[in-house]
Amino acid sequence: MKITSISAVYPNYRHTAPSWRTHLWQIVVRVETDTGQTGWGYGGGGKAAVEIVNGHFAEILVGRSVNSISDIAETWDFLYAESIPYGRGGVAIMALSGVDLALHDVLGKAEGKPVAALLGGANKDRMRCYATGPDTNWYAELGFTAQKMPHRWTGEDSIDQAVCTAESARDALGPDAEVMFDVYMSWDSQITLRMAAALAHVGMHWFEDVLTPDDLQELGALKPGIRPISMAGGEHEFTTLGFAEIARTGAYDIWQPDITWCGGITAGLRIVEMAKAAGARTVPHRGGEPWGLHLIAVSGCEDFAELVTGTRNAEKDDLWLGAPEAENGYIELGDAPGFGVIPNDDLV
Ligand SMILES: [Mg+2]
Repeated sequence: MKITSISAVYPNYRHTAPSWRTHLWQIVVRVETDTGQTGWGYGGGGKAAVEIVNGHFAEILVGRSVNSISDIAETWDFLYAESIPYGRGGVAIMALSGVDLALHDVLGKAEGKPVAALLGGANKDRMRCYATGPDTNWYAELGFTAQKMPHRWTGEDSIDQAVCTAESARDALGPDAEVMFDVYMSWDSQITLRMAAALAHVGMHWFEDVLTPDDLQELGALKPGIRPISMAGGEHEFTTLGFAEIARTGAYDIWQPDITWCGGITAGLRIVEMAKAAGARTVPHRGGEPWGLHLIAVSGCEDFAELVTGTRNAEKDDLWLGAPEAENGYIELGDAPGFGVIPNDDLV
């Protein structure tokens, strides 16, 4: 089948706080084929990425054949090469991610198979989830046994606050629960070492994004100092070329590619293999969303899927219809063709 049109939109999000992080600037990509199929993908990069898809990628993709996973991989390499002058990472690869996922979705629909089946079949049908957000008691009620809490350094009080928050999570979720911190690049090496010591009695699973993704060398040097806590990061990295630097510097124990940003499922599969070779584990960023779930299901990713769960009473935009939901802290891969989701008409 051949691509007859490809386009992207920035959804009309309603429940938007004044921060790009509310919806992470996620875009929706639509692809249509001469066999009458429609595929949907999810990318990052906001309106700038929409321009790249509609203005550049659409121009060079119409008429291209998509009959196999290897056709999609070739299309990935083609778009990467064509966007080198302004791309290689950032918004261009976030746009490419949306296209890559839309192509997997449309191929799955054409063949009547879930993306996981296209990729050789799932080795996990049911995955353990972790809740990301601050609402520990709600996650415990929902049956989660793992929580990642946001934490930001705001001064010396932050150490006591971190200990208090982590102890509450341990108490509420139980002795076997996994408890993690995402500090969004607000610590430095000294703070990280102090936090590891202060939190030793709680048994933290990982610290995420303690430094920026440009401090890979320093992260690699810091990593042994926080044992047995693992060092996690990678949501701000792109393609195998970016992750090759992570491998070279040994920056992280746990790699967290976001396949709606780092280059779609094509890049995601290559990154998981690279992590394995580097002796690292992969826990994709937002891996509990439909796109990440298919990657986790078919690859050597850890059985651990992130759901950005938020807080009990927060209003949410339901952008994707048909996405599987967690029950008692576990989520099942659906068996619908493609990724099994369609965007909500009211928002696109
Ligand atoms: Mg994070």
